[in-house]
Amino acid sequence: MQNEIYKREYTKEFVSRWDALIGWDGRTEAENGFFENLLKRHNCKKVADIATGTGFHAIKLAGGGFEVTATDGSANMVRKTEENAAAMDIALADSRVAEWGELDQVFAPNSFDALVCLGNAFTHLFEEKARRQSLDAMLKVLKPGGLAVIDHRNYDKILDQGYSSKHQFYYCGNGVDARPVKIQNDMVRFEYSYEDGNKFHLTMFPLRQHYMSKLLEDAGFSNIKRYGDFSPSFDGDEVDFIQQVAFKPRN
Ligand code: SAM
Repeated sequence: MQNEIYKREYTKEFVSRWDALIGWDGRTEAENGFFENLLKRHNCKKVADIATGTGFHAIKLAGGGFEVTATDGSANMVRKTEENAAAMDIALADSRVAEWGELDQVFAPNSFDALVCLGNAFTHLFEEKARRQSLDAMLKVLKPGGLAVIDHRNYDKILDQGYSSKHQFYYCGNGVDARPVKIQNDMVRFEYSYEDGNKFHLTMFPLRQHYMSKLLEDAGFSNIKRYGDFSPSFDGDEVDFIQQVAFKPRN
């Protein structure tokens, strides 16, 4: 199953190096509280980070007073989140291994005020059916009026103009380089190179921004708003990442 490639790609070794790639301090500075402020503005309390990775957002949000559940389809990632949370003395409400498509079997309907699926995670899904099933499950576990945030690379720019990056917002670690080594309409392969010569790869589906918004809309989300590199007004030819915010209708 192409949708499951990520489970092989996030090896224990790569997971142990993820924090060096994202650079917690640089990323915190670059985000400048964007997600915390968004969730506060909409009075969210119970938040699930459903692509927790090593726990960057789950831990930051829990430290900021949100009641955070951390999930991920990769057991290696969930373990690392738990280790990081313990090392930072941060209490998570819950942590589980869960695929997006089964969130509605793991959690009761209307469980969360917000779901965050960040760091270009949703682009690990290769089949449209799996994307739709995941968004359906996400909608079910959200409370009416709740919101989902999905962010992804600006694949429109990558596909139409080739790759360039300011490396300003997401992969902030020193001595690590992230860039695509293969770009096709149906697949982009990224290479992550470390100073010691080690290289790791992730295979992603290049989600175009309008297509992602349409999928959200088809699933029943409303008031979909896009940001570019955390700004509500942005030049699509310039930004590296797109953040999509979508709401579960109240009735
Ligand atoms: N959000 C974290 C960050 O920004 O550092 C991690 C981002 S990482 C690129 C993508 C994450 O999505 C990985 O931890 C991976 O295991 C998870 N993932 C990929 N496909 C998934 C699926 N179908 N269900 C649940 N998690 C999945």
